[in-house]
Amino acid sequence: MTNKSLKFNSKTIHGGQELEKAYGAVMPPIYQTSTFAQESPGEHKGYAYARSANPTRTALEKAMASIENGNYGLAFGSGLAAIDAIIKLLSPGDEVISNNDLYGGSYRLFKQVFEKYGIVFRFIDMHNAVSIEPYITNKTKLIWLETPTNPMLNIIDIKAITKIAENHEVLVAVDNTFASPYLQRPLDLGADIVMHSATKYLGGHSDTVLGGIIVRDKALADKLYFIQNASGAICGPMDSFLVLRGIKTLHVRMQRHCENGRTIAEFLNHHSKVEKVFWPGFTNHPNHEIAKSQMKDFGAMLSFLPKGADYKKAIAIIKKLSLFMLAESLGGVESLVGHPASMSHGGMTKKEREKVGIKDALIRISVGIEDVQDLIEDLENALR
Ligand SMILES: *Cc1c(COP(=O)(O)O)cnc(C)c1O
Repeated sequence: MTNKSLKFNSKTIHGGQELEKAYGAVMPPIYQTSTFAQESPGEHKGYAYARSANPTRTALEKAMASIENGNYGLAFGSGLAAIDAIIKLLSPGDEVISNNDLYGGSYRLFKQVFEKYGIVFRFIDMHNAVSIEPYITNKTKLIWLETPTNPMLNIIDIKAITKIAENHEVLVAVDNTFASPYLQRPLDLGADIVMHSATKYLGGHSDTVLGGIIVRDKALADKLYFIQNASGAICGPMDSFLVLRGIKTLHVRMQRHCENGRTIAEFLNHHSKVEKVFWPGFTNHPNHEIAKSQMKDFGAMLSFLPKGADYKKAIAIIKKLSLFMLAESLGGVESLVGHPASMSHGGMTKKEREKVGIKDALIRISVGIEDVQDLIEDLENALR
């Protein structure tokens, strides 16, 4: 049986992996080396200098490619370094269409770093895929999207967007951090590029910052590899190892994340002190039907508005939580709580935030895999 024909729950463990030749180590060693001896100039065993390639990083890159059903994987020092490499495919004057409620760090990178170099970003509401059409010009080179979005959990129809993009020969890149390939595989839905903050679900243990890109097309992979090597924003072997280890339990963790996510979403939705819960599993959530068709389940990320709360009250609730730790990030085994207006989306102005529904009282939670009754008790306590 080739690795390619394995089912997802086996690919997480074996996908793209080869047995280590020296001693048969079941996990690839952490090749903590900057360089590799050569027999004569240019004659080596496939590795010459560790920015260009490192065997531990290669093992991770192959694992990431496998679980996203891609052909090529590239690992970076962070999710943002991966996004940075993708935008470097473009030239001054090129245009990017992006959804308007994306991760705050991506927005900051686009607006405050790349606009300076003459790349034009148009941020639009993508609830309805056809609404991107009027924004496509002959300069549009990339459609950037995130689904479910952060923190409003909006759902974008990946298949419909890629169909439109194909007609105009525009690349589509999907930030698949929130869903993880367990829930959704954008390349299968027609996307050209998948990007991950592996810091989140892929790593899964809140112990590493790392980013990934997965593609199918060789020419595109070559261009991205050139940028990775030329710009140098690679991850180290230890971090590669940790994310590779994380991926091996992705399917088991995600299954429990989803179960707990559903239980918490329903608990909050029925709570008298809660005004609204944003979670794509609710039948009245915008584009719920699309979520149902492109995702395996609805995930463990959700946001909610406490009844009658303002900035101060929201902070008071967050401070009363004890099991849910107040911290940036998401996707780890432990439950985390965040306040988008002051934390992840603090880089946006209040006006920009309100335009996309991020109210000052909005609380975002990343439901972990603890016993769900303990999590409910913690929330009940804080809301009361
Ligand atoms: C965290 C995150 C990023 C950035 O990744 P880093 O690893 O922190 O650089 C990008 N997109 C999404 C959706 C994220 O949650």
